[in-house]
Amino acid sequence: MEALRTLWLIHKFTKEKECELMENYKNIQFVSDEFLCNSCGACAALCPTDAIDFKENRAGYFFARVDEDKCIDCEICVEVCSGLGLHPAVLDKLPSNPFVGQIEKCMAGYSTDDDIYNNSQSGGIVTAVLANQLRTGKIDGVIQVKMASGKLPRAQAFIAKSAEELKGGQKSKYCPVPILTLFKELNKCEGKYAFVGTACQLHGLLNILERYPKYKAKLAFSIGLFCERVMTYKAVDYLLKRSHIQGSIEEFAFKDKSISPYPGDVMLKNDRGEIRTLPSKKRIWIKDLLTPLRCRLCFDKLNVFADISVGDPHGIGSLHKTNGESLVLIRTSKGAGLIEDLIASGDAAFHEVDMNSALKGQLIETKKQDWLSFSNSWFKMDKRMPDFYTKVAASIQHNYKPKDYRIELYCATKPKGAFVDIFIIMGLLRKKFIKVFS
Ligand SMILES: Cc1cc2nc3c(=O)[nH]c(=O)nc-3n(C[C@H](O)[C@H](O)[C@H](O)COP(=O)(O)OP(=O)(O)OC[C@H]3O[C@@H](n4cnc5c(N)ncnc54)[C@H](O)[C@@H]3O)c2cc1C
Ligand code: SF4
Ligand code: SF4
Repeated sequence: MEALRTLWLIHKFTKEKECELMENYKNIQFVSDEFLCNSCGACAALCPTDAIDFKENRAGYFFARVDEDKCIDCEICVEVCSGLGLHPAVLDKLPSNPFVGQIEKCMAGYSTDDDIYNNSQSGGIVTAVLANQLRTGKIDGVIQVKMASGKLPRAQAFIAKSAEELKGGQKSKYCPVPILTLFKELNKCEGKYAFVGTACQLHGLLNILERYPKYKAKLAFSIGLFCERVMTYKAVDYLLKRSHIQGSIEEFAFKDKSISPYPGDVMLKNDRGEIRTLPSKKRIWIKDLLTPLRCRLCFDKLNVFADISVGDPHGIGSLHKTNGESLVLIRTSKGAGLIEDLIASGDAAFHEVDMNSALKGQLIETKKQDWLSFSNSWFKMDKRMPDFYTKVAASIQHNYKPKDYRIELYCATKPKGAFVDIFIIMGLLRKKFIKVFS
């Protein structure tokens, strides 16, 4: 029954897609208005009149915004928008199992440089690869993300060109960052660059490269971070408030393993050098409430288009380093070369890992079910879907019963974001509420 329902939804989506194409949107403002923006920055990178910037709304979303006076209706931003989906040439390359993708080898490892390792999110392999490739002159730089200091810490992208600058970008920032806006600046620089980022950011980059193949020579390789979600900036503000720290925040880490064992607690440091920590449960319990809607519609947790994908070592029995290791999925020959370079130079140590245990640890089956449930619920609310919906839904064996998440999705699109109390009360009244609104 559920399989039939999903097939019917796919059919309806295909029909509506045809109508949408005829709607002919001139710029991406509608993407933000419909909560489909994932803040990748691709649109702003290519806008010929600089008509696009980013604005945080009251819910903590950091959405692209169009200055209609500057917009010349060229539609370039719509063509590269990863919130809407994948360029047809990229969609064509979608693996038959889009939730896992092609995996040549599955490994876990850690940087042998103590500074990199201790300052890292999991095992420091992302930074070890980048430092190695910079040192050997194979790349000239990479876009990194750091938390900028201030009363309200916010993530910011920058171009790192040295090993020292790379360290400033370590650790995961679980918040939206339009890193591709720096593509414009990168393009003016000579040389080759590496990409590190979440799947939606990589989708935006691939869309750009298909639209403008002349830029392909600039990309040396891509490192994809596993990504289940970011959180809206309400999460940063909540953690800041709970820490009771005063003054300007100089350092903010969602997880800091230098102050507590891996994966580490929340850490804030102010301009007077005072440090406050919060147990990780404070971060974990707001995750679901403050997940942006677009992350719910994202299938690509394991970043299937990257040369290597890197994440936390969940589900791996024997870790060689108790304070974290990076789990690495080698996907291409280029990716294999990056790891061989690291091993040959002694910059990192690796051991092979059973792929099925790693996938189990990443809860890929749960991800499939959640993706299908959220996507079908969003579609039932008569909302626009990312264009990969048909292909990804068709790849799923329809042996689970999708849940109805319309309440969660309804809450996620409220101007003030998720209201904790209303959310819980509505959760309790779930069945009644759905009857009223359907
Ligand atoms: C938003 C997000 C969600 C994630 N979700 C999961 C998950 O569900 N499961 C899992 O196993 N792993 C997840 N990861 C990956 C994991 O947290 C580590 O990033 C990964 O294991 C690499 O660790 P490392 O020690 O090798 O990296 P480090 O040496 O610490 O380097 C981190 C790198 O990540 C980059 N980076 C940090 N934040 C961002 C950002 N917001 N956008 C783009 N680049 C960024 C930095 O610039 C740096 O290059 C997530 C990462 C992010 C950023
Ligand atoms: S290109 Fe990226 S930042 Fe721009 S509207 Fe689309 S999803 Fe948002
Ligand atoms: S879950 Fe998907 S859409 Fe959300 S930040 Fe991660 S890669 Fe982007």
